Parts: sequence; structure tokens; C-alpha cells
Amino acid sequence: MGDSFFSPDLFYVYLGIVTCVGFFFGSFLNVCIYRIPAGLSIVLPGSHCLSCGTPIRWYDNIPLLSYLHLRGKCRYCGSVFSVRYFIVELLTGVLFGLTFFHFRYTLATPVYIVFVCLLIVATFTDLDHWIIPDGVTIYGTLFALVAAFLAGFYPKGFVIAGAWPFYQGAFYSPLANALTGAAAGALLIYAIGVAGSVAFRKEAMGFGDVKLFLLLGAMLGVMNCVYVLTLASCIGSLVGGAMILVRKVSEHRARRRGRSGDTGDNANKCGKGHEQADAGICEQVDSTQPQPTQEDEIFQKIVSAYQTVGAKTKAALPGVHHIPFGPYIAVAAIIVLYLGERIHNYLFGMW
Ligand SMILES: [Zn+2]
Repeated sequence: MGDSFFSPDLFYVYLGIVTCVGFFFGSFLNVCIYRIPAGLSIVLPGSHCLSCGTPIRWYDNIPLLSYLHLRGKCRYCGSVFSVRYFIVELLTGVLFGLTFFHFRYTLATPVYIVFVCLLIVATFTDLDHWIIPDGVTIYGTLFALVAAFLAGFYPKGFVIAGAWPFYQGAFYSPLANALTGAAAGALLIYAIGVAGSVAFRKEAMGFGDVKLFLLLGAMLGVMNCVYVLTLASCIGSLVGGAMILVRKVSEHRARRRGRSGDTGDNANKCGKGHEQADAGICEQVDSTQPQPTQEDEIFQKIVSAYQTVGAKTKAALPGVHHIPFGPYIAVAAIIVLYLGERIHNYLFGMW
């Protein structure tokens, strides 16, 4: 019976099931992301429309499908639901599938599925509120330590089982690695935060990030914390650079449009649309100005999406102008979860 359950033919059936279960969990994570920072229960009451308050029926609450069927709108009042709900459901399902695909039939699979869920909640609450809930970091760390204890008896698949510095495969080595990792990871970020605030005279790293590294250290060990931090900094620089570039380009375009006037065919429309532009200049419509292409429109959509997110954050936290670091850490942690061993072996030339 055991053989038929683990039959290779059925692996992809299970993979599909695990992914679909992930979509439903994504739906639940959406609730967590919205309710935990607001201090609400994540169990009761059931989901309801945030605009008209109508409870959402089960057939309107099917992950992915309901969003597509209702085109992201409330069935009753027609108010628009954020595309984020869809993205979180999709992302959760995909990561459930990837985790099962990578860690197969081991105890590590359910443990890392929980880990991925914690990282998703951390990412989106940090993006929205600049908060990583203690439920994620502190309780997550406790969960990781219990898992590391169990990994001493069922080490297969566990990142923490073969980690530095306690390689020796004794039943206590995963737990010893987890404790070392949690302490070292949190200390590392704390030290960087202190150094950063001395160097830049402002808070460089929040205490939420310190607690997040408590979780990462307990789950992944000391070395992987270093890889996560390095990778997160790289991703952060790339995304930050891209966002500055997008802002510069959009400012440049806005200025150029302001000078040369509308691309449209009548000057009145132009004067109305561009109140900053000098009316005299505006009337000399440059007919050689190219019409906006589809690419331009997509670009503008991306720009306005960035601007909306930026404005929201600024409104929520006046005086803060940088992006939270948590989401980068979470993305890096997920990459290291799957590829950490390869990165480590590559760096230390052990292939
Ligand atoms: Zn509604």
C-alpha cells in the first residue's frame, strides 16, 4: 500500500492536488494579511465585501476562479477588489507546488510549506503597514525550533540537518543549528541596523527585520542567513534602481509633454489637460509628435501603479521614503530555501 501511495506515476497527481490546496490557503493568507495588522480575528466572521459589507458566499470565494468570473468585483455593489487577492492566491499555490516538488515525500515539505506561508504574510503586511506580525516571526521561530527538533529524527530534506556548524548528524544537530542560526541571524541584522543608523543617522533596519531573521536563522541556519542578506540587498538595489529610473523617466516625459503640448488634435483639450503648460506654447501643436503606442500605455500603467503604491506608503507613514526591506528578505529566503545548497556548494567548490 505504501508503495502504491509513493508511486512515481502518482507524483504529478499529488503535485496538482498540493498546488490546488495552496490556492485555498492563499485565500486564507489574504484574510491574515488584511486582518492581523488590524487586530481582528482570522477565523470569524467569514469574508465579507469591504465596501458594502455583504458576506461573500462560498461560491464567490473559490480561489482564482471567483476573481476571474466576477472580474475582480463585488457581486452586490460592484466595488473593485484588489488584484492582490488574486496574486496572493496564485503565488501561494505555486509555492506549495514548488515546495512539494523540491522536498518530495519528506517531513520537510509540510514544514517549509508553513515557512512559505509565513513569508507571504510577512511580505504583504510589511508592504501595507511596515509591520511584520509577531505571529509570523516569534511563533514562526518557535515552530521552526520544534521542526528542527523533529528533524533530528527525520532529517531527510531538512536544510537545517546538513548545515554549518553542526554537521555531525547527531539527533541534536538540526536543533543546535537552528538555535545558532536564529541567534546569529538576528545579531547580524541587529548589528547592521546599529551600524546603519550610526552611518546614515536614520533607522536603516527595523526591529521587525531582526525578528524576521530569528525565523530565517532557525529555519535555514547561519550560512543561509548570510546568503539571504546578500541576495536581498542585491534584489533591493535592482528594484530600487528600477523604481528611481521609472520615476526619472516619467518626470522627464511629463516635463516634455508639458512643453510640447498634447498629441491630440485640438488645442482646447490640450489647455485643459495640461494646466501647467503655457497656453501660447500649447496652441502650437506639434503634428509630428508620435501617437502614444500600446507600449507607452503599458509603461504609463506601470508608472501609475508605482506612484499609487508610493503615495499610499507616504500617506501612511509621513517622513519615511524608503521601501520596507522585509519583502526583499522574504523573496531571497524563498530562493535560498530551494537553491541554498547549490549556492553553498558552488561557493565552496564542492559541486
Ligand atoms: Zn460589495
